[in-house]
This record gives sequence, C-alpha cells and structure tokens, in this order.
Amino acid sequence: MAAHQVMKAFVEHKPVLKGIDFTVAPGEVVSLIGPSGSGKTTFLRCLAMLETLSGGEIHFKGQCVATAKPDKTVIRAAQAIRADVGMVFQQFNLWPHLKVIDNVTEALIRVRGMSRSQAVAIAEPLLDKVGLLNKRDDYPKRLSGGQQQRVAIARALAMAPQILLFDEPTSALDPEVRQEVLLVMRALAEEGMTMLVVTHEMSFARDVCSRVVFMDGGQVVEDAHPDAFFAAPATERARKFLNQLSI
Ligand code: ADP
Ligand code: MG
Repeated sequence: MAAHQVMKAFVEHKPVLKGIDFTVAPGEVVSLIGPSGSGKTTFLRCLAMLETLSGGEIHFKGQCVATAKPDKTVIRAAQAIRADVGMVFQQFNLWPHLKVIDNVTEALIRVRGMSRSQAVAIAEPLLDKVGLLNKRDDYPKRLSGGQQQRVAIARALAMAPQILLFDEPTSALDPEVRQEVLLVMRALAEEGMTMLVVTHEMSFARDVCSRVVFMDGGQVVEDAHPDAFFAAPATERARKFLNQLSI
C-alpha cells in the first residue's frame, strides 16, 4: 500500500496532512509515531478509505483507490478492496448489542453473504487465537478493555485483510491488560501479517517493527529502522518527542 503526496484539510487552507509519501510492503510491520495532533489518525483513516483526500493518491494492490476527485474506476477499485484493509480503533468500537461471536460474524454474513454456520466456522478459531473462545456468548460490556480489544482484532481478522491498521490499540487500556493485546499483535506480526500501528508503545516499535515512521505537523519527518531511530533520531523534532516520552 502506498500514499503519494496525500493531503487532507478538513477546513480550507488548514491542512492536517501536508503531502505524505509512505509505502508499506507486504509482510512489513511499521509503527507510526508522533505528537498528538500530528495527523496520525487522519492518515490512517485516509489509508482505510474512511476519508476523502484533499490531494494526492493512495495505491493498493496495483490500483489507485483514492484521489481528491475519484472517477468511476477509482471508486470501483476502492469498493472492491475496501474489505482487504482492516482497522482496529483505540476505543474498540464493538457493537454493544451483539454477543462476542456475533461481533465477529456480522461482516462475514452482511458483507460476504455467508450463512451463519459458515461465518461461525471462521469466527470461532479466530476467537480461540485471541484467547477468548470461552467468551463467545458474552456481551462486550462484560469484558475487560483488553478482552474487548482482542475481540476487535478477531473481528478485523475475520475479513482476512491483507493489511491491518491499528490506531493506538492500547491507549484506552489499563497498563495491566496492555500486554495481552500487544502479545496478540506480536503473534500476528510473526505470522507475516502486514501491519501499520500508531502507538506510544515504544517497546513494541523497537522489538516488533521493522520500521518507525515519525510524523509531526502533518508530515513524515523520519522513516528509519527502529535501531537507528531510537539510538539517534536524525531530527531535533524526533529527539524532543522521544525525550518527552521518557520523562
Ligand atoms: P493524531 O492522531 O496524530 O493525534 P489527528 O489526525 O487526530 O492527529 O488530528 C490532526 C489534526 O486534525 C488535529 O488538529 C485535529 O483537530 C484535526 N482533525 C482531525 N479530525 C478532524 C475532523 N473530523 N474535523 C476537523 N478537524 C479534524
Ligand atoms: Mg490519533
């Protein structure tokens, strides 16, 4: 997946993204870090095709899937591959009125047109994978935040996405349960899932990711191997950001 000069302004003349160039190759695990307000969520939403662009292009599987003025070809390409891009949100966004199992089967039934039993056959192993098969008939509110986030990951995996985008998946969690979510993410990375992870978990960025992308002010400021980035960031802006985190 690649972004070419992606721009986004919610208000005219106030760009939030100021021309982002970014590529993630299949199997790569990239962390996206940067100060609050730097445009990380907006960029992820653009990649997930949840926002219209103000400029630039997004390419996926060899096709243009987003531009500022998408023509029929672009719109058709976007519709065809939308489900190949999975997203996991900071606030989980599970459907509160659906049981855990139904949260995971919902899109398989509605979007893929599967029967319930076909969908359950896919959903149960995924719940098992995130360690929550024993919660299949509970409602989300009965689960801890960490468990809810693991259900959200199983739900995203149900569509068999080719890339998973995570927006601060552990930021809303108590410190005690962050690790259980990070372990699931680490296992996915080790299986070769392509992942782009907005995170403040620097140990995850350092130990699991093959690249760190640092954003500030709507721009990519650094794009480096974690070892190089954490040992000696190239820019003053990144140095400041890392110093603030460690205080
Ligand atoms: P980050 O995720 O890095 O904290 P965001 O992408 O959430 O940054 O926000 C970047 C900037 O865009 C912020 O100034 C924010 O207020 C603005 N912004 C984000 N979403 C919207 C929106 N829907 N409407 C107007 N402004 C927005
Ligand atoms: Mg954000």
